[in-house]
Amino acid sequence: MATSVRGGGFVLPPAAAGRSFSSQSNLLSNRLLLLPKIGPVCAPRFCKLRSSSPFAVEPSATIIDGKAIAQQVRQEIAAEVSKMKESVGKVPGLAVILVGTRKDSETYVRSKKKACEEVGIDSYGVNLPEDTTQDEVLNFVKKFNDDPAVHGILVQLPLPKHISEEAIVGSVCIEKDVDGFHPMNIGALAMQGRTPLFVSCTPKGCIELLVRTGVVIKGKHAVVIGRSNIVGTPAALLLQKQNATVTVVHSKTPNPAEVTRNADIVIAAVGVPELVRGDWLKPGAVVIDVGINPVEDLSTKKGYRLVGDVCYKEACQVASKITPVPGGVGPMTIAMLLSNTLESAKRAYGLVDAAP
Ligand code: NAP
Repeated sequence: MATSVRGGGFVLPPAAAGRSFSSQSNLLSNRLLLLPKIGPVCAPRFCKLRSSSPFAVEPSATIIDGKAIAQQVRQEIAAEVSKMKESVGKVPGLAVILVGTRKDSETYVRSKKKACEEVGIDSYGVNLPEDTTQDEVLNFVKKFNDDPAVHGILVQLPLPKHISEEAIVGSVCIEKDVDGFHPMNIGALAMQGRTPLFVSCTPKGCIELLVRTGVVIKGKHAVVIGRSNIVGTPAALLLQKQNATVTVVHSKTPNPAEVTRNADIVIAAVGVPELVRGDWLKPGAVVIDVGINPVEDLSTKKGYRLVGDVCYKEACQVASKITPVPGGVGPMTIAMLLSNTLESAKRAYGLVDAAP
């Protein structure tokens, strides 16, 4: 028995029939919204912040408004989707596989669905119970891989512990790997003369923010703090592709403040609230803060608020441009997901050159 999930010929096997189907979302998700990535300095639930700041002058940095820029990107995507519909009678499709019932993942999936709807991208999705086997998930990936109406596939992370993320992420065909997590796409990003089919959304969003706010990257010294596969490493590789001279700082780097002080551009993707202080920055540096960290704040309804990896108050007085948290990199991540899905559909319908 099979149940069709929207057009596109995708069918569900019996195991999933009768369950709810949602759409959209991706990745980095669970950190993105809401929930506590508990870093090394965190208390059981929320981190406490260092309080005193030696900086007392008025802030001078220009705020990079990620929300407004992401909105502009979405409008551009909506216009392109509508052009595609006119010229080939098709629109891009994004499929999401969600396993389990984590509230944060469900929220994230819903927000992606909404984002797709707003720009005219079709969303397909399947919600599977926590006890779904790895083979069942692989089966869904295969079905979406084979479905021509689907141009992008996201497997919502984290997956339950009994499922190998590596196996699942690696099973998404690279032509639909809109998360850019597939080793082939990351490998191509690292190679001279190669262009990946997709770059992961958050680092791509960081570069987009720099470019759209007129920051010159070529020839500049950039320091990326953090070297994860999904943010720090691809951010460093992208900056290098843009001809910056790049230094990567990580948890074993001696004196990270001194290294960071040499940077014209700083991308912080650490997961430690307000690690980067004002005195880590060269005056006039451009600061992109990827971090999303909940810290205790009893004055708020929820009892916490979100801060970045950079001490915003201090950095504002030293940097020339800076992204806020929230409202900086976060909104760009979803915009880049839509952008990757559009690119994929354009490739599929011959509206751009085939694979680079
Ligand atoms: P991750 O996988 O935990 O990686 C953190 C990186 O930071 C690691 O490379 C680690 O070094 C390094 N690090 C940790 N402590 C350090 C220290 N004290 N000094 C220097 N480097 C240190 O985290 P992630 O997935 O890259 O995420 C980073 C942050 O970005 C988190 O706050 C996350 O919530 C946020 N995020 C935001 C978005 C968005 O859309 N805005 C998307 C994704 C992630 P080692 O490699 O040596 O361990």
